[in-house]
Amino acid sequence: MKSGDKGIVFNIQRYSIHDGPGIRTIVFLKGCPLRCKWCSNPESQELMPELSYMKKSCTQCCTCVQVCPKNAITPIEDGIKIDRNKCDRCFKCVESCASGALKIEGKEMTVDEVVEEVMKDELFYKRSGGGVTLSGGEVLVQYSFAAAILEAIKEKGINTAIETTGYASWKHFQQVLEYTDYVLYDLKHTDEEKHLEGTGVGLSLILNNLYRAAESGKDLIVRIPLIPEYNMDENNILNLIEILKNIKQDEVHILPFHQLGSQKYEYLGRKYELRNLKPPADNEVESIRQLFAKHGIKATIGG
Ligand code: SF4
Ligand code: SF4
Repeated sequence: MKSGDKGIVFNIQRYSIHDGPGIRTIVFLKGCPLRCKWCSNPESQELMPELSYMKKSCTQCCTCVQVCPKNAITPIEDGIKIDRNKCDRCFKCVESCASGALKIEGKEMTVDEVVEEVMKDELFYKRSGGGVTLSGGEVLVQYSFAAAILEAIKEKGINTAIETTGYASWKHFQQVLEYTDYVLYDLKHTDEEKHLEGTGVGLSLILNNLYRAAESGKDLIVRIPLIPEYNMDENNILNLIEILKNIKQDEVHILPFHQLGSQKYEYLGRKYELRNLKPPADNEVESIRQLFAKHGIKATIGG
């Protein structure tokens, strides 16, 4: 991929201290083959830019209704209704919306544009031992774009990291890994069927790639979301411990489920299945941390 080639980015977040060493900038790429029921970034899942509607900012001016060439927008009592089957994503409605209630999630950026943006914080990276992390979505969906960004950043002497589900062909993974210093590897469940049930995809490719990534000699940390009623049972945690031992890891990050992204589903016109699921209690998270510790693995809560 050339430096002027484009990919789809949905967010660039500066000054993060949770996604790799030091102070980091996180570049969120769009597109993910998984559909985790607890996903807090549903706007990351589709590869293409999509329309988001925030009802509370809508002034009911109806400009969008008039400009939509597909007649996909209808005024309703407390705002507008979008027929997403009719919508062809021309985004004329977004241009016309003065209140900011309509937004485009995701935009095309060139490799150069991303690199220019993230290099604004070069000084912070150098002082803190930080760098740039590519996240998603699943970064390996846009593997050529991801590799080109990481290569350009590495050439400037900046530390690079990816956060990945590992669900990709090993060939594509390797292409990205070549320019990656640090891998944050998400693992959701150790049982094939439960994995499929929670994420929409099987486990074996993810597990095979985890073993390969660990053997590659790159710095790697496994991150486990803790989802009540799904993967917090002792049996699953013991299986995770066994996997961590197999890949010689004595550290893990555990990420308790939260509801912070739940409203985004509504903005995108999607259903959110876990609306009523409560985050795990502190004592439940603590007992999982202790179970890891008992087996010689340091579990950091929150990563
Ligand atoms: S993106 Fe285009 S087609 Fe879709 S609702 Fe807006 S104006 Fe209509
Ligand atoms: S243009 Fe914006 S503020 Fe006006 S009705 Fe449409 S979404 Fe609401």
